Amino acid sequence: MTERVVIIGSGPAGWASAIYTARANLEPLVYEGAMTEENRQMGTLPLGQLALTTEVENYPGFPAGDMSAFLDDALKEGTAPYRDPKEDPHRAVTGPELMELMRQQAVGFGTRVKTDDVVEIDLSSHPFKMKTLGGEETEALAVIIATGARANYLGLESEDRYKNHGVSACAVCDGALPRFRGKPLVVVGGGDSAMEEGDFLTKFASKVYMIHRRDEFRASKIMAERVLANEKIEVKWNSVIDEVLGDDESGVTGVRIRSTVDESQTEELDAAGYFAAIGHTPNVHFLNGQIETNEKGYIQWVTPFRTYTSVEGVFAAGDVADDYYRQAITAAGSGCMAALDAERWLAAKGFE
Ligand code: NAP
Repeated sequence: MTERVVIIGSGPAGWASAIYTARANLEPLVYEGAMTEENRQMGTLPLGQLALTTEVENYPGFPAGDMSAFLDDALKEGTAPYRDPKEDPHRAVTGPELMELMRQQAVGFGTRVKTDDVVEIDLSSHPFKMKTLGGEETEALAVIIATGARANYLGLESEDRYKNHGVSACAVCDGALPRFRGKPLVVVGGGDSAMEEGDFLTKFASKVYMIHRRDEFRASKIMAERVLANEKIEVKWNSVIDEVLGDDESGVTGVRIRSTVDESQTEELDAAGYFAAIGHTPNVHFLNGQIETNEKGYIQWVTPFRTYTSVEGVFAAGDVADDYYRQAITAAGSGCMAALDAERWLAAKGFE
């Protein structure tokens, strides 16, 4: 059987496109990703980057409050809430909850979901053909790629240990959490993301250490100057993170940095949080170069404000095609756009 629309990816872009294509009676099939150890380590498990965050306070429509009654009602039994509301009653929706809500909304309109990775795809002929990790072969008239991006981490074992317990790669998502307020924090990186994260975190932190491996920032001048003028920021030049320090109860308690000039020099900094801001990598490996990307490897929309890619019938939404906004709401918005683009393209080609 040839699918009309296959959606690859299960973040907000994937589910928004599933909701829209399902409601257009296109009976979408979503490959949400496989539950593998490799995906866990890469940060590419089903439900995307939001599944790696805690509270989401900036998704419109979800103000803070005890959501347990709503979640109990909206989600299938046993899938909500993820945390005990008695322990933390006035909280916002969490990333995993938000994604589960979107997933179940998509399923509610008839979306079929497979917990599998697309590992190979052939876009050279139509219908498009793909193979999954589980060995399934599928054909599709239209494909929406919504595989997102993953934050780069340094790859330290101690970084992994404290993920979600003080280690984050998204200050905008996590910076305002109570555990970071009024405490010193650490940001690693020297690009625009690091500048933005460092500056943003000074709203909540007592102090922000910026750790950069060279003696000048890569960031744009204006963003670097803003950081350098901020009295709450101390830059540790020519330094790398040796280890993230912490314990099971408190999570992150500090970092040990090492000088890149004299490697025998180390220093320990107290910090309640560690933010990696060393870039992102779009999840495009399975495409094997068949779709045009920009110089940073992100899928290129070939027509402004349309989700068309360089292959007709293949659409891209969310962070896999966005190295600039990278927000849940923008991803969901572009997922909706991709669904409408796919629906109109199928109709224009005479595929009902
Ligand atoms: P980026 O420009 O690639 O910068 C990455 C930074 O991380 C660099 O300073 C790099 O150091 C450092 N780094 C990379 N790997 C490292 C490692 N293993 N150990 C230590 N440091 C490491 O990435 P980005 O800051 O995420 O920016 C990505 C793009 O988005 C850029 O084009 C940026 O302009 C854009 N952006 C724009 C805005 C804005 O305009 N508001 C905000 C955010 C991002 P080196 O400098 O030594 O290579």
